[in-house]
Amino acid sequence: MSQVLTGLACLNRQAIQFGNEKQLEVIVMSAITARIIRAVSNGAWSICRRINKIVPDGNLPNPSWASGRLLKARERKPMAAGVPRKTLSLCPDCNRQALTAVVEGHEDIATFRQHPGVLDADILEEGGRILMRKVCAKHGPFEDALSNHPEFFRRIEHLAFGADFECTNDREVHNHGPNSIKAGRGTHLIVDLTNRCNMKCSPCYMDANAATYVHELTMEDIEAIFANALSYKPQREINVLFSGGEATLSPLFLQAIRHAKRMGFHRLHVATNGITFAEDRDFAFLAKAAGLHAVYLQLDGISEKKNAHRRLGNYMEVKHRALENITAAGLRATLQVTVINNHNNDGLGDIVRFAVANIDAIHGIVFQPIMFSGRDQSVSPDERYARRYPVSQIAFDLKEQTCFGWEPMRDWFPASAYSTFAHLCDVLNPSAKLGSLFTDTHPDHAIFSALLVDREKAEAIPVTTFFNLEQFMKDIVEIADSARSPATTRALVGLAALRNIDRRRTPSGFGLADLRLLLQDCFYRVAGNGENWSQASNENNGRWRLLFINTVQFQDLNIYDLATISNASTPVATQDGEIAFSTYNAAGWRAIVESEHRTASLPEWYKTNPRHKIHSNGRIVQLSETARTAKTQLFQIEVEPTLVTAGGATERS
Ligand code: SF4
Repeated sequence: MSQVLTGLACLNRQAIQFGNEKQLEVIVMSAITARIIRAVSNGAWSICRRINKIVPDGNLPNPSWASGRLLKARERKPMAAGVPRKTLSLCPDCNRQALTAVVEGHEDIATFRQHPGVLDADILEEGGRILMRKVCAKHGPFEDALSNHPEFFRRIEHLAFGADFECTNDREVHNHGPNSIKAGRGTHLIVDLTNRCNMKCSPCYMDANAATYVHELTMEDIEAIFANALSYKPQREINVLFSGGEATLSPLFLQAIRHAKRMGFHRLHVATNGITFAEDRDFAFLAKAAGLHAVYLQLDGISEKKNAHRRLGNYMEVKHRALENITAAGLRATLQVTVINNHNNDGLGDIVRFAVANIDAIHGIVFQPIMFSGRDQSVSPDERYARRYPVSQIAFDLKEQTCFGWEPMRDWFPASAYSTFAHLCDVLNPSAKLGSLFTDTHPDHAIFSALLVDREKAEAIPVTTFFNLEQFMKDIVEIADSARSPATTRALVGLAALRNIDRRRTPSGFGLADLRLLLQDCFYRVAGNGENWSQASNENNGRWRLLFINTVQFQDLNIYDLATISNASTPVATQDGEIAFSTYNAAGWRAIVESEHRTASLPEWYKTNPRHKIHSNGRIVQLSETARTAKTQLFQIEVEPTLVTAGGATERS
């Protein structure tokens, strides 16, 4: 790509503002120069494309980590899409009855595995919404919303990258009847170390501290789980996410990280409420030394009010101290936000502004609309309708609540589009031991948008303001499918980058060399490997950073779509194999696994273990001394007052 990207200069820069919104300064280069550069790169692209069409396509490589040749676009299995369509779902009541029968000993697991309550469902458009509707002969009708924005929903489905390879040699790992994962390896391997937690939030998708038993993995369990993860194809890079309950309560937390690292997993993360990191100044340093790469930190807003459902007396202090300690240790955080309609959806823009202001500490954001399972599985339909937050809503709320110039129909993509880059890396590295991190989450359940952040000014702009990401991804697919030599492929990708950037709209000071560095950074994140991957992936300390805003809807039983479970990208690695996160937490498998493999009943547990603190009812967490330095001090932002309208849409007051 360097051959193509170098040699471009002569830019005439001047700062301008769009309207009265605060945005990044943009380059006003001579319109003529910009047009010439685009015309030349488009012309070169057309010529290369014509030549490419004359020369017959080659074959894609057959890497050792896959069960066959890399798949071209036309060979990839498309994901179920289109409205209206028929699918299979679960009856919430049949599923719970079947689960209760197993837990109470009236039925065996094999029966539950094959008969979890499957029924037909329709996905349809009605009244400006996309709905799932289903009728159980025994329990009656069920209905819920998948989207409030049909046009956006269709666009996202249309842009989905196809599914990954079918799994092979995975019978011991994926054996959960109609809920079995059938393709790929996922992006996040979730390892729940314990069901204990030091908080008692509501909502809590796993109903922490309500079970009558403790379920905690032993070192033998952890070893078996990672051995299983390496036992089948495809074998790809994957993020390991230690979770729970609260993973840091497990006495094996550091040992588990070290073991995973020894087994060749380098993308090691923990999902945490942050209390341990805030209470113990050394904890982040110990975790980093063990091999931890980053922290997924729970945060549902940037004020106490927005986190009231977490029930701590000093929630924001805890988060700030945890973030400072995490940053001081050289780790980065991804904010993990549970979004509840009519509760905190009016404060999502503030979270993004907080992340932009603290870009050195915060690497990304994952918004997770509330999942009605665990503590919330039995809420009334009225309450569920009021709190449901369809995934598409984020794009429209963030447009309203920020001044970055977000455009929902231009700036958002299905998470599976990340796989465009993974596929290109796989084509370029046929001898890699592992495939690249490949996201094949169904487009109805995960979307993203990328912001370019100027670290010097703490300002941001959607990348798609000046870069045609949609066309760039189409170009990459075409280039990869033609299966040329690595040098030709790289040159064509460089040309595609050049023709898709609009230099009239790039931020002031952002040049082609910066674009090249960011692309390299993205490729390293999905395809880099080796002992030093974590350190190397954090080495971009230049002026520009990408902040990825992800939104992931885990499915509860009301919106459960079996057609999308088969390529779930967040498997939970358990003593009973790898189970889709939604299946595990909403469709009964957590209760099955935890009760079957329980460590001890609570009374037995407390005979030999001290009671762990549960911070609830406004309890104050005692914080560690600060590990704050000039580098780790967080920037606070003013919360902008927002009105929530009856329909859940937001307005600034
Ligand atoms: S921190 Fe809250 S939501 Fe998370 S497991 Fe604990 S109680 Fe549940």
